[in-house]
Amino acid sequence: MIPGSFEYYAPRSLGDAIKFLAAHRDDVKILSGGQSLLPLMKMRLSKPAFVVDIGRIPGLDTIIEEDDNLIIGALVTHAQIESSELLQTKCPLLPQTATTIADVQVRNRGTIGGSIAHADPAGDWPAAIIALDAEIKVTGPNGERWVKCDDFFLGLLMSVLEPDEIVTAIKVPMTGKDKTAYMKAAPRSSGFAVVGVAVRIGLDGSGNCARAAIGITGVTDKAYRPERAEQMLAGKNLDTKTVEAAAVEATRNVEVIEDINGSAEYRKNLTEIYTARAIQEALNR
Ligand SMILES: Cc1cc2nc3c(=O)[nH]c(=O)nc-3n(C[C@H](O)[C@H](O)[C@H](O)COP(=O)(O)OP(=O)(O)OC[C@H]3O[C@@H](n4cnc5c(N)ncnc54)[C@H](O)[C@@H]3O)c2cc1C
Repeated sequence: MIPGSFEYYAPRSLGDAIKFLAAHRDDVKILSGGQSLLPLMKMRLSKPAFVVDIGRIPGLDTIIEEDDNLIIGALVTHAQIESSELLQTKCPLLPQTATTIADVQVRNRGTIGGSIAHADPAGDWPAAIIALDAEIKVTGPNGERWVKCDDFFLGLLMSVLEPDEIVTAIKVPMTGKDKTAYMKAAPRSSGFAVVGVAVRIGLDGSGNCARAAIGITGVTDKAYRPERAEQMLAGKNLDTKTVEAAAVEATRNVEVIEDINGSAEYRKNLTEIYTARAIQEALNR
């Protein structure tokens, strides 16, 4: 449980961090909250020669309003999101999701940027940001780029990030009157989602569903959007029959994983149930 030796660097600017990453790109890791990286290093599943601690770079730990969006710095912790009055008012899906992550210690250290960069297929943030159509700001030697969250995750612990790029912010919309909810089934031992479903539903003047967005985590090698289920909700009155029919579509064309937490069939069934519950929960709010 002791990591291999490595050189530690704590830059005071984004530019210095990127220069260091670019110089050591084949053997370097970024350290944010350390809640995923340090366990991997202690188990020697990750053995970087260099670790860049970005925790002292100013300007990455704020939540600000920008037009109709909120810009969340990569170093904002799960706990900061949970307690943010701004988010509770303008984008309540995020604080609600934060409450489901692990325990207080992990929420105090772990960051949204680290979580998203880590691309854990059972992480909670990927589901929430997909339901919000978020964009991820990535900064590297060639400057900044914004990546749509649908395009960001590639597979198990894999994303479009290059080794010398840093997630610096996440842009989410203010959700206004839209209804949102995150529901998760997780074993008490780890807290990680066996299935986690985030939904955002906009209703029209007559109470029908104008648009629906769903993000699902824990079910396959990356969080995903069940497009067919979303389409089955749009334009409809969301009665039980419609919601349940859409929920059945939530795993269509998805290679559902199986592991110690459950068989593929069990997970598929759980996904249907949690999709229906998340939609219902959002509508009840
Ligand atoms: C006991 C325990 C229970 C947990 N339960 C849950 C849970 O229920 N739900 C959940 O979602 N998560 C859970 N986690 C994970 C936790 O949320 C972590 O905080 C998160 O996965 C990683 O964030 P971090 O800031 O700690 O990143 P780190 O551990 O510092 O880094 C993680 C990875 O991302 C890279 N990285 C970090 N920051 C950046 C960045 N800004 N740009 C580019 N790359 C970066 C690192 O190099 C590393 O590869 C749990 C962790 C523990 C230890």
